[in-house]
Amino acid sequence: MKDPESKAIDTRLRLLSYGVILYMLMAFTWWSILLFIKNKDAFEAKRDVLKLSMIAQEIVRSEAEFLQNDRYQILATQYRRQEWMIFGEAFVFVISLVIGVWLINRGYNKEVMAARQRRNFLLSITHELKSPLASIRLVLETFVKRELAHEQIKQFSQKGLKETERLNGLVNDLLLSAKLESAYQPQLEAINLLDLFSELVQRMRDNHPHASFSLETDQDPIIVNADQMGLSSVGLNLLENAVKYSGPHPEIKISLSKNKEEALIAIADKGPGIEDKEKKRIFDKFYRVGNEETRQTKGTGLGLFIADQIVRVHRGAIAVSDNQPQGTVFSVRLPIAQNDEQALHEIK
Ligand code: ADP
Repeated sequence: MKDPESKAIDTRLRLLSYGVILYMLMAFTWWSILLFIKNKDAFEAKRDVLKLSMIAQEIVRSEAEFLQNDRYQILATQYRRQEWMIFGEAFVFVISLVIGVWLINRGYNKEVMAARQRRNFLLSITHELKSPLASIRLVLETFVKRELAHEQIKQFSQKGLKETERLNGLVNDLLLSAKLESAYQPQLEAINLLDLFSELVQRMRDNHPHASFSLETDQDPIIVNADQMGLSSVGLNLLENAVKYSGPHPEIKISLSKNKEEALIAIADKGPGIEDKEKKRIFDKFYRVGNEETRQTKGTGLGLFIADQIVRVHRGAIAVSDNQPQGTVFSVRLPIAQNDEQALHEIK
């Protein structure tokens, strides 16, 4: 959060720049009006001189005849053209100024948002690194200080291992997200989605015995050409989120289906759901809904960013929608392997 002093400086700077912009707009409007008036004065003066000289030379005899005369018509056309020119330039200037201000404002807001996300990320990563380290340290300290029974040693070691796994997962996510921006090369192979998700669901059941998972499909095999590690990471991130954001009794349904061109993976939970205005932003790097100081759940805001990037590399798409009557559905579409039979043969 910004301190009150820098907030006040920010507000003052904003007000100053809005003041300068307003001054520029008013000054330009004033100059445009002046130009209009001067242009009109010049036209009227030229018209009067022309009229007097034409009457003196007896080229025209009346006002009506003068107004019909070619020389007056040329003068009037020139005048109208100049009027349009002033109007056009004023319009272009105002539009450019408005677009410029809008772009600067948008850039500024993006910068503020990025700074907030970086700060959120630092806070969450510090927490995510510190808590497993503290648990592992406690386990090791207990081993050093106390004589433990075999059963207790096993129990503590399992806890330590679980925390190490969490740390490992976090470091992998960080590495993968850095890699995704530069050098991610998927190792494509034929993968049967039912096999992959059966394995992932089993892993989830082991890690989250309080959650219930159902895996459904009326088609088997559904083969996609994908990177095994990458696709597992997409599945795990979505499944972990479904558990994490579902309250005390997560009920998660995974459906696999396909049509002629695409395989569809849908992961539905019955949690509180995601507000419409957040749906677009949750795939941004480091973005987490809410505020780091008040948030209850652990995380870094990397999971959906990673999932989205990996799916894109596979020429697929990921989307989020509301579950009925409540909750969230994440749907992943992936191009299906062209020749199922051949691909299945390769898997076997
Ligand atoms: P993290 O879970 O580490 O915060 P993610 O990138 O995986 O980061 O998710 C971004 C945000 O999207 C989360 O902070 C959460 O607010 C929201 N979100 C993701 N999945 C779900 C879900 N299944 N239900 C509700 N909110 C979700």
